[in-house]
Amino acid sequence: MLSFGTAGCNLGCKFCQNWDISTSREIDHLADRATPDAIAQAALRTGCDSVAFTYNDPTIFAEYAIDIAAACRERGVKSVAVSAGYISPQPRAELYGAVDAANIDLKGFSDDFYRRITGARLQTVLDTLSFIRHETDCWLEITTLLIPGHNDSDAEIKRMANWIVTELGPDVPHHFTAFHPDHRMQDVPPTPPATLSKARQIALDAGERFVYTGNVHDARGGTTWCPGCGAGLIVRDWHRVREYRLTADGCCPDCGRAVPGRFAERLGTFDGHRIPVRIASRRGSHPVGRRQP
Ligand code: SF4
Repeated sequence: MLSFGTAGCNLGCKFCQNWDISTSREIDHLADRATPDAIAQAALRTGCDSVAFTYNDPTIFAEYAIDIAAACRERGVKSVAVSAGYISPQPRAELYGAVDAANIDLKGFSDDFYRRITGARLQTVLDTLSFIRHETDCWLEITTLLIPGHNDSDAEIKRMANWIVTELGPDVPHHFTAFHPDHRMQDVPPTPPATLSKARQIALDAGERFVYTGNVHDARGGTTWCPGCGAGLIVRDWHRVREYRLTADGCCPDCGRAVPGRFAERLGTFDGHRIPVRIASRRGSHPVGRRQP
């Protein structure tokens, strides 16, 4: 995956872990010329199957992201939007009609948290999740960063999980990830791994089928389990894939149950390392993409 971003953001999360990019007004300093075609070509050149709009929110460069997604699609490269999902209905339809997959943050489950900590509103994000799930062909996953004392109570996680199962169905993957002190939340401790495991269990108990823990070493929480027979199908350790047992058509090899998702026919060989990718050719230019597993 070629990860790509610009500068700035339409939210102002106090915990932002990419705050140097999201709060930057220095887009002319950071940016370089990278046409949609050049980005799609860079993905092909470096053996990437897909381009991810990440690091900052593609909502603020939606027109550009849509053009890049189209250039990628022409060349058989997929595109993924990683976003907070805080977007108006018309650009929402255009953006999520253009990309192949989306990972949307559901940062908490109270409007008070959203307003105080992120500057956004919960209902707009819920509307985006429902829209992507029910009105587009875009594959949807959800990420929730758990911040100790702010959005990690059992009751809030249970309400969130119940909403996901009722409104989106049980098959939308949900990732609980660990916070570390950053930006304007230096006084909050890191998320204990036990909090992530507990949240995962609450979501599973509520009926979500594919719940993961992230940013931690947790074999149980990092593995995709067969929803039919319970066999381990994709065993992960942080960004590494240790085992990949899905059949070419995305089924469990033991019981034959289809696993919802968009899967490669086989495991790639890149593994967990990152390499910088130079897209523009101008002298002194900055790399604007990074290849990730
Ligand atoms: S939406 Fe993401 S990039 Fe933007 S401020 Fe919040 S955490 Fe940072």
